[in-house]
Amino acid sequence: ATFEQLNLTAALLKGLYVEMKFEKPSKIQAITLPMILTPPHKDLVAQAHNGSGKTTCFVLGMLSRVDPHFERPQALCICPTRELAIQNLHVVGKMGKYTGISSELLVPGIFENDIRNCSPVLAQVVIGTPGTVKKWMSFKKLSVTDIRVLVFDEADQMLDKSLNDCLCSFHQKDGFQDDSLRIMKDIQRFSKGCQVLLFSATFNETVKKFVSKTVKDHNQVFV
Ligand code: AMP
Repeated sequence: ATFEQLNLTAALLKGLYVEMKFEKPSKIQAITLPMILTPPHKDLVAQAHNGSGKTTCFVLGMLSRVDPHFERPQALCICPTRELAIQNLHVVGKMGKYTGISSELLVPGIFENDIRNCSPVLAQVVIGTPGTVKKWMSFKKLSVTDIRVLVFDEADQMLDKSLNDCLCSFHQKDGFQDDSLRIMKDIQRFSKGCQVLLFSATFNETVKKFVSKTVKDHNQVFV
């Protein structure tokens, strides 16, 4: 398989070859990219470990669906940690260098103090952690009506984490009434036809239950 077969724009191919220095798709990329990039852009649930090349799958998925001339958030990537969000933002910037697509980070510690005074997010690709993203959504500073691609990276880490957080919170008896689920449900409700891409290293009961509650008709890949 080659990257040329994927109908990517010249700008994205240049990002892959010149910036990332990739020559050809890895196994997971060869399998999932045609599914991710081709209409009807079905939801995807993929079991993938770190080092498999999964980041490229969802970064290309996001960058290839964003309209660079439309200044609104169109792709959203949810990560379990601030560090992973920063890493993914870096890849988006590098791979998307020639596309002119803007990106922004929503993690704790950024504009925390006075969210009411912050301008709404206009970046086309938004990457963040569940709590902060949910907060920006609830303060109407992040509009999700134009989100076309919603990524959950390392879903197992994220759901375990929120499950632990929930154990400390008397508001949330059910571990699944967490930020990730809230974000997913809101986006599915407000943004018709949003594609969900969920990556997880393991598929424990927590992840399976989350998937069954959210993405119904999806492609499933185990690499
Ligand atoms: P990931 O699993 O997405 O974190 O990727 C693991 C490592 O593989 C990263 O250092 C990537 O830059 C690298 N990588 C991903 N895709 C490719 C590819 N198609 N060719 C060469 N290296 C790659």
